[in-house]
Amino acid sequence: MIVMKFGGTSVEDARAISRLAEIVKSRLDRKPVVIVSAMAKVTDSLVAMSHAAANGGLPDALKLLRQLKQRHLNVAAELVDGKREAELRDEIQQHFDTLQDVLRGIASLGELSLRTTDNVLSYGEVLSSRIVSAALAARGLNTVHVDSRKVIVTDSSFTRAVPADETNDRLREIVKPLVNGDKVPLMGGFIASTPEGITTTLGRGGSDFSAAIVGASLGARRIEIWTDVSGMMTTDPRLCPDAQRIDAISFDEASELAYFGAKVLHPATLIPAIEKNIPVYVLNSREPSNPGTCIRSKAPKSRNMFRAIAAKKSVRVINIRSPRMLMAHGFLRALFEAFDRHGVTADLVSTSEVSVSVIIDGSRDVTALVEDLRKLGKVEVESGKAIICLVGENVRGRVGMAASVFSVAASCQVSLHMISQGASEINISFVIEERDVPEVVKALHARFFPPRAEAKPRSRSSEVMLLREEIAANAAGVA
Ligand code: ADP
Ligand code: ASP
Ligand code: MG
Repeated sequence: MIVMKFGGTSVEDARAISRLAEIVKSRLDRKPVVIVSAMAKVTDSLVAMSHAAANGGLPDALKLLRQLKQRHLNVAAELVDGKREAELRDEIQQHFDTLQDVLRGIASLGELSLRTTDNVLSYGEVLSSRIVSAALAARGLNTVHVDSRKVIVTDSSFTRAVPADETNDRLREIVKPLVNGDKVPLMGGFIASTPEGITTTLGRGGSDFSAAIVGASLGARRIEIWTDVSGMMTTDPRLCPDAQRIDAISFDEASELAYFGAKVLHPATLIPAIEKNIPVYVLNSREPSNPGTCIRSKAPKSRNMFRAIAAKKSVRVINIRSPRMLMAHGFLRALFEAFDRHGVTADLVSTSEVSVSVIIDGSRDVTALVEDLRKLGKVEVESGKAIICLVGENVRGRVGMAASVFSVAASCQVSLHMISQGASEINISFVIEERDVPEVVKALHARFFPPRAEAKPRSRSSEVMLLREEIAANAAGVA
């Protein structure tokens, strides 16, 4: 079997959903399980309406809700008709009635908890999965809608929930028999629930992660991530239109890129795939014939010095300065214990004799952490920074690489706040002001990814290598 995940733009309207149906049909012999995201921009809209409701803007929230309902009803009406449309329409109406009650509840309390946030955000995937499932059935596919909240079990860290082992049992009990019975199970990504049945989500962009969890648990031969670009590119094509498609990339390289901001993959996606050695393909739902990118355990070395460049925006620098640190052991342990207590992970770290700088994700509330760190020394927090990360297996042991990277950064006249040649040995990262990201990424890309003269046919040896890996991965992945 295979897992096919379609992101927001791949289900954004009736045309996109019709395309999706054709793509799924073309792979029926591979026994697909289909995972869908909310329709494009819907999750953003749900975030906006929950915030409006909590902050005295209930009329605005309800206006957004009406627009969203109309959009879903229109798409449904374009895709299905007759009895099926009447049923779908009723169901959509019911979901929006409940959501309206939730928004009114948020408004009357004037408070929005993380648990309620997850409840509101779940509607995007609840609705899209129902609509896509009805559209597939209307096109003759033997599809069965599975409520992800019944199969993906997590802890209760709302808005960034962590999957629990029970998920494997539930997927094998509920979804596997459907696949074996030649049905096409269809699930919403991103959403899950606690063992008690309270709705959770896996973090923004989390449908990729859902796909990988399902794929790993059911022993998929491959996990396909269908999106709006033709694979993983040498950098974000929105930042740099010259970005080039990457044919094949290793799990390690792709993990670093996803972690350091390549939005095309949720950072946790590859963890389950790596555990079971399942290749992950990134494919374009608007151009299904494009080979996209294959992410696998090993990939032929890149022709360029690096495989790709990623940029992670909205990061914070926390500087802790303490004379006590001088020659004192135990200081770093106390420092990282504080990070651990508050569940904050460090993206990059640098230390000197009397100070430590830690780079963290800017979306976390760090008030309590900073309070704690003040017991250790003077603390400063700087926001509005970004991490630029250049990744590639070629980085290992290559002399002069850092110098060429920093000479490009210097030519952009930006100041660097931190430099790190990652412990993984396959990345070089540095921190700059967020506003400088476009200029620096463009300059680095121009320097390290000169335009390809002509697409060179793959050499026979790299073809053979790819084939061997595919065979090995498939052998490991067969259920
Ligand atoms: P989906 O809704 O299908 O999950 P996303 O918006 O989450 O799609 O991810 C796709 C987007 O990721 C692309 O449109 C692109 O702008 C962005 N992106 C960032 N870095 C990269 C990269 N290295 N390769 C491809 N896309 C990237
Ligand atoms: N709909 C969710 C989001 O926008 C999850 C996803 O698309 O992967 O974050
Ligand atoms: Mg995504």
